[in-house]
Amino acid sequence: MEKTAFVTGGGRGIGRAVVRRLAAEGCAVGINYLQSREAAEELAREIRQQGGRALAVRADVADRAAITAAIRQAEEALGPVEVLVNNAGIAQNDLFQDTPEALWRRMFAVHADGAFHTIQAVLPHMLHVKRGAIVNISSIWGLRGASCEVAYASSKAAVIGLTRSLAMELAPSRIRVNCVAPGVIRTDMVECLGEETISSLAEQTPAGRLGTPEDVARAVAFLAGEGADFITGQVLTVDGGFIL
Ligand code: NAP
Repeated sequence: MEKTAFVTGGGRGIGRAVVRRLAAEGCAVGINYLQSREAAEELAREIRQQGGRALAVRADVADRAAITAAIRQAEEALGPVEVLVNNAGIAQNDLFQDTPEALWRRMFAVHADGAFHTIQAVLPHMLHVKRGAIVNISSIWGLRGASCEVAYASSKAAVIGLTRSLAMELAPSRIRVNCVAPGVIRTDMVECLGEETISSLAEQTPAGRLGTPEDVARAVAFLAGEGADFITGQVLTVDGGFIL
């Protein structure tokens, strides 16, 4: 049976790979973007050309009214969302004592509040049909902590707390909530670190390479799919052994 999925920040990076993977597995996909309009619309066209169904919708996940309206727009075109992937994210790199309050708040607004808004938007239908899978993208830094990324790591830890608690609350309703914690994955978020740092991070990875968006997308699709029917509240690390 075709399901409708909704992926936040789906226009590029890890989100785009997740969108492609879910579409390849037969999902109709709502592709949320904030700034990457062309990329998101191009991706939706690509999926439609391959016989799938997809719609790109703009919203800031931190804006409750906007992201709720975007989800409704996708649902009107594609059907009620039964797979939700909270992927939208932003990075930081500064000392804790220099972190502006606005940046701290933005980190939590995008990562924690964003997930809160999207989940509340899709939950009434999932509760009604007693079916649904939610996959939140955290980070290995949300598990382990990270110097010079205290706001990022703290907000990603909040996503893990949300995942575990909500999984307990929703398990009796047969709605699963899981989390993927990527390690260092080659996307725009990491490219800005420069070649030297990227090579050193690859050397520190037991698997001997950095991750790809597709590595993460396969884990997300697994947790979203029927193969993970009895799995909930878990944090699946996809990092080539980086934090072992
Ligand atoms: P990326 O290439 O920088 O892409 C970030 C994505 O998030 C873009 O699609 C962007 O959309 C979207 N986004 C950002 N703020 C948004 C907002 N307020 N509302 C809606 N969309 C928003 O990053 P990435 O590497 O693919 O990261 C994806 C997720 O994986 C993030 O949650 C990130 O924290 C997590 N992660 C990444 C790594 C890594 O090494 N790359 C490691 C651990 C965890 P627009 O372009 O449309 O604005």
